[in-house]
Amino acid sequence: MSPSLTIIGVQGRQVTVPTGLFIHNEFAPSTTGQTLAVENPTTGESLGTISAAGPEDIDRAVQSAKAGFETWKSVSGPAKARLLLKLADLIEQDVQNLGSLEAVDAGTLYTDSVGLNIPQAVGCLRYYAGWADKMDGKSLEMDGGVAYTHREPIGVCAAIVPWNAPLMITIWKLAPALAAGNALIIKSSELSPLYALRLAELVKEAGIPAGVVNIVTGDGASAGQALSEHMEVRKLAFTGSSVAGRKIMQAASRTNLKKVSLELGGKGPSIVFDDCDLENALLWTRIGITANNGQICAAGSRIYVQDGIYDRFIEAYKQAAANAPTVAGNPLDTATTKGPVVSCAQHQKVMDYIRQGKQSGAKLLFGGEQIGKKGYFVQNTAFADVPDNATIMREEIFGPVASIAKFSTEEEVVAKANDSLHGLSAAIFTNDISRAHRVAKAIESGQVTVNAWAMLSPNVPFGGVKESGFGRDMGEEALDGWTTVKAVKYHIFPRL
Ligand code: NAD
Repeated sequence: MSPSLTIIGVQGRQVTVPTGLFIHNEFAPSTTGQTLAVENPTTGESLGTISAAGPEDIDRAVQSAKAGFETWKSVSGPAKARLLLKLADLIEQDVQNLGSLEAVDAGTLYTDSVGLNIPQAVGCLRYYAGWADKMDGKSLEMDGGVAYTHREPIGVCAAIVPWNAPLMITIWKLAPALAAGNALIIKSSELSPLYALRLAELVKEAGIPAGVVNIVTGDGASAGQALSEHMEVRKLAFTGSSVAGRKIMQAASRTNLKKVSLELGGKGPSIVFDDCDLENALLWTRIGITANNGQICAAGSRIYVQDGIYDRFIEAYKQAAANAPTVAGNPLDTATTKGPVVSCAQHQKVMDYIRQGKQSGAKLLFGGEQIGKKGYFVQNTAFADVPDNATIMREEIFGPVASIAKFSTEEEVVAKANDSLHGLSAAIFTNDISRAHRVAKAIESGQVTVNAWAMLSPNVPFGGVKESGFGRDMGEEALDGWTTVKAVKYHIFPRL
């Protein structure tokens, strides 16, 4: 029996996962015996250790993926679809285990995992299963002949994923990569690797051939870098910080110029106009920064409110927080509304930003402290009258910290919203349909939501502009990132 690790999940359920690297449908320890310590952020206590991949293991995964790619080529589109659908069903049936692992390992609320994130992952697999037999090209007329195009898989690809909503983000890569015919090596985050080991078991149970999906655990500097530098990895899809994204691009540029897509951070503006439905705007601007403790790249962390309703909004925002006190505690308990942030380092980073907020001249509306001494809990926090140049208005905090400021005109707020290095997600609250269209068009962002926040769907592309990255997850557009186009041209001889 391979070594395993057991956690206590929802309602005392024991969830056991293998601790090895999943290469060629088998679990095995890393070649060098390197391990990774896994921690429960609710308590700060150790959950155990798992294998950590080094460069030799990454090479083994790549050799396996090369073989897996050859096999996958011979699997028809409809048969690929059936395997993706099977994996979707297995994930759906396993929701209690996967939700427990995300709660214990990443601090994600169990109710969010099973109610939102895992259903999103399942929907994404089913959506791309529908594409697996539709990877068609075009036929084209040309001078002196005709041409047709093939959309072909890239080959051995890799995905490096972060710790927040880890299963969902992993499936955003896995589903289109496999539907398009690629073999994929996934590296999970060192901060939340346990879901990935359960996913590996389900990949095998679904009957996906060996080598088509390899899943490795390990840290960024070793396993992540080895993947980024590997000469036989032809595409790398990344979600994570700008710091790591830059290193990945540098690695690709000094090695084989692999195709790279980057989904990086954000500093999303939520713009509240005078004419909005105030209750609705209050609801979504709160959810937009408190969901998953603000550890969401698309978080609405900059809230701009028009001067006609600014004072009323601030009062109501404060009141709404007071009326719905958070229940901080074990993310496995369904009554809990606030889990911990993911790690001690993340906790320190968020608390440091809050300190800077207090010194910035902004007004602390509520929150601003850590909760308890055990685990990594932070109060929901909001600052009002935040200056444009304050660090908390400019940098991604990745914590439950809202920065609110006043504006007067549409032009002014569009300029403020665009005055950011990031461009991932934005929200607009207005009942003026012309204004909604104008502002949505003017904002530099990969997605804009009107009268709500975020709204994810597998058929709608998700990704950034500017330093939030390039390439798209989800939607038909994601398939462009996982395919290459070959043009075949026929010369037609003229009749003599
Ligand atoms: P991170 O960049 O530290 O880690 C992400 C992944 O990159 C991990 O698997 C890590 O091991 C790996 N990594 C780290 N250094 C690496 C290197 N040198 N080479 C290769 N891989 C390396 O980010 P994080 O802290 O896990 O996630 C938080 C960040 O991710 C935030 O900035 C957030 O905005 C961003 N994010 C973006 C999206 C999106 O879709 N745009 C979604 C979620 C998170």
